[in-house]
Amino acid sequence: MASNKLTCIVCGRRFPRGQGVVLVVKGKEYLFHSKACALKFLRRVFEEIDEELLYSAFEKTLKKFSEELKRAELMRKKKI
Ligand SMILES: [Zn+2]
Repeated sequence: MASNKLTCIVCGRRFPRGQGVVLVVKGKEYLFHSKACALKFLRRVFEEIDEELLYSAFEKTLKKFSEELKRAELMRKKKI
C-alpha cells in the first residue's frame, strides 16, 4: 500500500484514486482511468453474458430510465 496510484485494467495507465471510474461487483473493484476504458470493458462483458439475461436487464433499465424521464417531465410541467 505504498502507492496511492491505481492502474487501469484496460489500458494499463496509472491514475490517482478518486479519478477515473470504479465498478464494484461482489465487493471486487474494477478500475478504469476513463469512461472510455470502462465502456470498452463493459462492451466486452456484454459478449460474455447470456443474451436473454442481458436483454432482460437492458429492458428493465430502459423502463426505469423512461419512468424517471416521465417523472422529471411532470415536475417541470407542475413548476410552470
Ligand atoms: Zn484506461
